[in-house]
Amino acid sequence: MQAMNMNQQQKLRGELLRNEPMAKHTSWRAGGVAAVFYKPADINDLSLFLTQQDSSKPVLFVGLGSNLLVRDAGLDAIVICVSGVLNKIEQRDEYCLYVEAGVPSPKLARFSAKHSLTGAEFLCGIPGTFGGALAMNAGAMGGEIWPIVKNITTIDQYGLIHRRTVADFDIAYRSVKEKTGSDFKIGKNEWFIGATLQLQKGIRENSEQKIRSHLARRGATQPTQQPNAGSVFRNPAGDYAARLIEAAGLKGYCIGGACVSEKHANFIINTGTATASDIESLISHIHQVVENEFKVNLIREVRIMGNKSE
Ligand SMILES: Cc1cc2nc3c(=O)[nH]c(=O)nc-3n(C[C@H](O)[C@H](O)[C@H](O)COP(=O)(O)OP(=O)(O)OC[C@H]3O[C@@H](n4cnc5c(N)ncnc54)[C@H](O)[C@@H]3O)c2cc1C
Repeated sequence: MQAMNMNQQQKLRGELLRNEPMAKHTSWRAGGVAAVFYKPADINDLSLFLTQQDSSKPVLFVGLGSNLLVRDAGLDAIVICVSGVLNKIEQRDEYCLYVEAGVPSPKLARFSAKHSLTGAEFLCGIPGTFGGALAMNAGAMGGEIWPIVKNITTIDQYGLIHRRTVADFDIAYRSVKEKTGSDFKIGKNEWFIGATLQLQKGIRENSEQKIRSHLARRGATQPTQQPNAGSVFRNPAGDYAARLIEAAGLKGYCIGGACVSEKHANFIINTGTATASDIESLISHIHQVVENEFKVNLIREVRIMGNKSE
């Protein structure tokens, strides 16, 4: 555990907003306000901010909001956004990178390729931050983030920095939890601020070619031009959520301004007027129809936060 170098008299230097519309910070471009929204100036400022908060108030770290729906009634929480703030990638030794949580995952993929490192190309089309990728165990094209993580740096509710190992976490498909019996709870009183990745020696041109073909494939199969949050449901074992949703006849089905994408049935798009409630109702409807038709209980991948309306 490490205390940040600062004194309590220091002034906060980040941006503090009240009742900030989360539609501005989520890729669905829908949803209610966050009671408090803080964008720290840097890691010292983040630490100072945390030391000044009432520890009974829930804190939510967000990256680029590409896996997040905030209900229309808003979020009575302190939202901390590190996207574009903790933004450094450093080469630690020949094949290791230290990456801060606010780095966009596609930037990490390009940086690795440029430095002739292989193993992070799959991140090129995941439009979130590295912190969000750690929280979600993001993956694509057969790759996942946690198998390339060497060790992790976190910050706790008192602004203290911790070094964690991979063995401190239970990692599964799109799921990351602290080990049972841990003295911390990731996402509740401790959050990711960076990690060291172990990559391998690669060939720049090969990695760049891989990235181009990943992105071309995404452009052809996903509604990348309309607001969405990627796959809404996890794939059930041995099957695909998109296949089940399409087979249930739900492609193109809409509630208000939220529609099941015609291009990829596991994506919900905001056609321009969707409320968070439209999106959440559509998610429930899809879940119900697939369960009735195929007896499959789809598990949600996107996270839904915030107060339920009266
Ligand atoms: C077009 C599109 C395609 C996508 N494709 C994929 C894909 O192929 N594979 C895939 O896995 N995902 C995919 N996603 C989903 C999403 O991009 C990933 O889950 C991404 O890693 C989320 O990062 P974020 O910064 O946007 O996280 P956010 O949406 O901001 O947050 C997601 C969750 O992580 C938590 N969190 C964020 N940052 C931190 C932190 N620093 N410490 C602790 N908790 C944190 C948040 O509290 C929240 O619970 C896609 C999304 C879109 C819109």
